[in-house]
Amino acid sequence: MKKVAFYTLGCKLNFSETSTISRLFEQKGYLKVDFNEKPDIFIINTCSVTENADKKCRKVVKEALKISPEAYIAIIGCYAQLKPKEIAEIPGVDAVLGAAEKFRLVELLDGFEKKSIPQVLASSIQEVKQFNHAYSHNDRTRTFLKVQDGCNYSCTFCTIPLARGESRSDSIANILVSVEKIAGTNVKEVVLTGVNIGDFGLQNGLRKERFADLVKALDQVEGISRFRISSIEPNLLTNEIINFVASSEKFVPHFHIPLQSGNNKVLKLMRRRYLRELYADRIATIKSLMPHCCIGVDVIVGFPGETEADFLETYQFLNSLDISYLHVFTYSERDNTPAKHMDGVVSTADRSKRSKMLHILSDKKRRHFYEQQIGQIGTVLFEEDIEDGYMHGFTENYVRVKAKYDPLLINELKKVRLTSIDANGLMEVEEAETEIVHH
Ligand code: SF4
Repeated sequence: MKKVAFYTLGCKLNFSETSTISRLFEQKGYLKVDFNEKPDIFIINTCSVTENADKKCRKVVKEALKISPEAYIAIIGCYAQLKPKEIAEIPGVDAVLGAAEKFRLVELLDGFEKKSIPQVLASSIQEVKQFNHAYSHNDRTRTFLKVQDGCNYSCTFCTIPLARGESRSDSIANILVSVEKIAGTNVKEVVLTGVNIGDFGLQNGLRKERFADLVKALDQVEGISRFRISSIEPNLLTNEIINFVASSEKFVPHFHIPLQSGNNKVLKLMRRRYLRELYADRIATIKSLMPHCCIGVDVIVGFPGETEADFLETYQFLNSLDISYLHVFTYSERDNTPAKHMDGVVSTADRSKRSKMLHILSDKKRRHFYEQQIGQIGTVLFEEDIEDGYMHGFTENYVRVKAKYDPLLINELKKVRLTSIDANGLMEVEEAETEIVHH
């Protein structure tokens, strides 16, 4: 029995895909092992958004060869689609598979016999039209379910459309089948993932279904306690979706909404499809219906043309919004993107200074949000994440909670009262009396 190990770089979508590909291997009789258990085959799933994707990929290949010098190494994922030739030149790499080929890995590389030259199987991204469903199954608590792939937007900094192709989705009927399977494995929470999930519903280039209808259909599934929408573009987050989440028992009050810049000139340069006014309106609508809703924000600093004044406008805008945390990205030039050729390049020193300022703002926002939750009753899903006698979990509105380790609590939903914030910024809790009803 050949042993295969997986390594994933990047986002939740990549994790869900690695997980599904690993199950395809298991179905064919391969034994899935950990990275350091001397595998015969390594599958490395790469990311193009990750800073220094090339270096990271080389590093993982080197590590793999240290563990099993004779192993077969195949590289898949976004970076493999973007730069197949460069990757094939990395010493030790046996195969590179693009976006269209990665799910047929086991059949295409049947036997995994090493050849004298690496095999490169990467169709052009224009030919990538098929949707391959995927979901992660790494722990018992949360599953990342892929419902959509690719993107038809053309944000000027982004390589994802080049790496993942056009927007396409699974059908609601198929997704319900997957979710019912997941429900049968005692998973409590499903996180919906995709590249641009608000654009859900395109099948073979035709708009067949809508994200709002997917949300409504999932809400009816028995056996899953919680659904979380991972990240959604502000212009696609409609009142219909917000209203539904506000009234749903299963869709949790947590949104992650990319902003990227709080300055309209920069938003236009980025070719984003909204202005800051729309963004502010989305946040106000959410908070008016769900004051306890957690809202995460993606923001990019140092985009070409972003002056100090533009950045300060973004800073003040974020400061004024009722949001809960930021994911800060420092802009970096990417091949084949229009932004790479734009004027007004921001110095590395300014990029890092702006990033630091927003990291501090993010800590402040998170702290403020956590403080607002003290005294509230929340439901925590405890995970198998144990440290120094404590375990962790998240409330429905994404407050990270710590509690004394109790093996019986793993994968359990527990009603708690949020009491105080510890020195590491984690929420401490006490058991809530059962008669207290959460409004
Ligand atoms: S919406 Fe923009 S940033 Fe997001 S994947 Fe599509 S092109 Fe990239």
